[in-house]
Amino acid sequence: MTKRAYNFNAGPAALPLSVLQTAAEQMTNFEGTGMSVMEMSHRSENYERLNNETQQLFKTLFGIPEGYKVLFLQGGASTQFAMIPMNLLPAGKTAAYVVHGAWGTKAFKEAKLFGDAATIASTKESGFKSVPDMKNLKLPDNAAYLHVTTNETIEGVQMTEFPDTGDVPLIADMSSDILSRPLDVSKFGLIYAGAQKNLGPSGVTVVIAKDELVDKSPEHLATMLRYDTHASNNSLYNTPPSFSVYIMNLVLRWIESEGGLAGIEKRNAEKTDLIYRAIDESDGFYIGHAEPAYRSRMNITFRLRTEEAEKAFLKAASAAGFVGLKGHRSVGGCRASTYNAVPYEACAALAQFMEDFRRQSQ
Ligand code: PMP
Repeated sequence: MTKRAYNFNAGPAALPLSVLQTAAEQMTNFEGTGMSVMEMSHRSENYERLNNETQQLFKTLFGIPEGYKVLFLQGGASTQFAMIPMNLLPAGKTAAYVVHGAWGTKAFKEAKLFGDAATIASTKESGFKSVPDMKNLKLPDNAAYLHVTTNETIEGVQMTEFPDTGDVPLIADMSSDILSRPLDVSKFGLIYAGAQKNLGPSGVTVVIAKDELVDKSPEHLATMLRYDTHASNNSLYNTPPSFSVYIMNLVLRWIESEGGLAGIEKRNAEKTDLIYRAIDESDGFYIGHAEPAYRSRMNITFRLRTEEAEKAFLKAASAAGFVGLKGHRSVGGCRASTYNAVPYEACAALAQFMEDFRRQSQ
């Protein structure tokens, strides 16, 4: 077998090797059908079972209570930025946003296209290195919902506390940290995530929402952009991204086999500690972006002292087989994305490489 890359891509990102191997084995004959899932009717019994089983796996793994739907949509998390206000922001109400990075900023901008929206807390002034204080949020009296981004992928800043919003639905973009740790889903009205980081390939977007939020959309909304269309058709209103749902099914089973979310959380902490330690013990050679209390377990962002040093680091890392370490084009620097499927060994190898590179440069 050819060697697997040390893949730190931000998304699409590394998938578990065993998932890829199972998919390869089943590529020409899924469950005795003589075809791959890609070639199968989405109205077939096999696919319907896969669709239902994948929803059920989500419910079990994430501990989703009764009264929630699990939807498999398309258009990425970016389409959710619009669908949320289109469906859930009526005239006379205000959509409230907490912003601590580029994706929350985008979600807020999109909401303003559809109605009244307000950023009620932001860490923009201090450079998106932390999350606003969740205990002292002041919601507008007429709040339609509160939107948060649980992990800001570009800045590498992650929430560990979630606000108590009472009757106001809490909506979370979990694109880059869904199923990376146990969470109390009942706190949230709606959770959404593009699949291409922790769940599988791109192409499917998961929406987990309370029935009352997805059962009735405004009358004059386009059919495909209504939550109630997808909720009442079991995510099979039109042709679903069937292959992406299938791989996601395998990824969810893999998470189960790794000890569920508690097991995954422990592993994520252990493997990211290695890299954060390499930053902290470097005497300022590597400079972490996020304040330590808000450091992400999914995206580790750091700089070197000069752009030349960063260029040299990235070049040497690439030559040593590390992929995807360049920071997002909007902020520069370096970023190691360490999603669930990135192995401990890859993180250990990166930490060692960082230490070696520092020694050789000094
Ligand atoms: N939200 C977050 C937190 C993200 O990381 C991303 C993608 N990197 C998006 C939204 C946009 O997702 P998509 O490309 O699926 O539209």
